[in-house]
Amino acid sequence: MARRKQIYEGKAKVLFEGPEPGTLVQYFKDDATAFNNKKKGTITGKGVLNNRISEYLMLRLGEVGIPTHFVRRLNMREQLVREVEIIPLEVVIRNVAAGSLSQRFGIPEGTPLPRSIVEYYYKSDELNDPMVSEEHITAFGWATVQDLDDLMALSLRINDFLTGLFLGVGIRLVDFKLEFGRLYSGDDMQIVLADEISPDNCRLWDFKSGEKMDKDRFRRDMGGVEEAYQEVARRLGILPEGGPRDFKGPETVQ
Ligand code: 5GP
Repeated sequence: MARRKQIYEGKAKVLFEGPEPGTLVQYFKDDATAFNNKKKGTITGKGVLNNRISEYLMLRLGEVGIPTHFVRRLNMREQLVREVEIIPLEVVIRNVAAGSLSQRFGIPEGTPLPRSIVEYYYKSDELNDPMVSEEHITAFGWATVQDLDDLMALSLRINDFLTGLFLGVGIRLVDFKLEFGRLYSGDDMQIVLADEISPDNCRLWDFKSGEKMDKDRFRRDMGGVEEAYQEVARRLGILPEGGPRDFKGPETVQ
């Protein structure tokens, strides 16, 4: 079988041409990077788990009316998604102080924020994803005022829904990063959630113990990274008894 055409290779995923026009296949790797590629490693089984976790969360969000790029999972490491024009912004939503917000403002990690805070970063590895304001975004044409209204409204709805979903399984959603894309059909354009939602781009803390269940365990050399990702999947009810190896289906259909 001929290898499919690779469209893009990112740090944690590869995008291939999809089976029909307007679709892509998103392949989840075990590779992990942090601090803009300065730290590199592998988290065994991460791709399989993130494929499942992201599928689960995108489906639940779809059920409550959030438009997403997700179509269906194909196998252990791949999902079919709609091809969108990615908006070059990382949208970070925060509920509790942690990470760069704690560093920037000197607020201890774990301090609840008075209200959820939405931040925008310009997607650029060369520039280290600088934080940007709405002024920068509209002046440089990365998104329009209307786009930003949609991004903000969608981000807050996603945050409300996911905060409740994770709370139900004993996990505090501290913060997370989203990416959005433009989906065109005829003259219409709709902004949809793209990329993935997984412990790679969320901070997830056990509600009782405060233990970290996300990529910070890799970033901060805390150990137990695979186990933490597995525990998130298990709590969401999507990890079979024997762990990720027990997932049915081929690793890839390449
Ligand atoms: P911070 O700005 O505190 O480093 O990150 C805030 C949240 O956004 C964290 O949940 C973090 O995982 C996520 N995040 C921010 N930038 C990136 C990024 O470039 N890649 C990934 N995977 N997650 C990010």
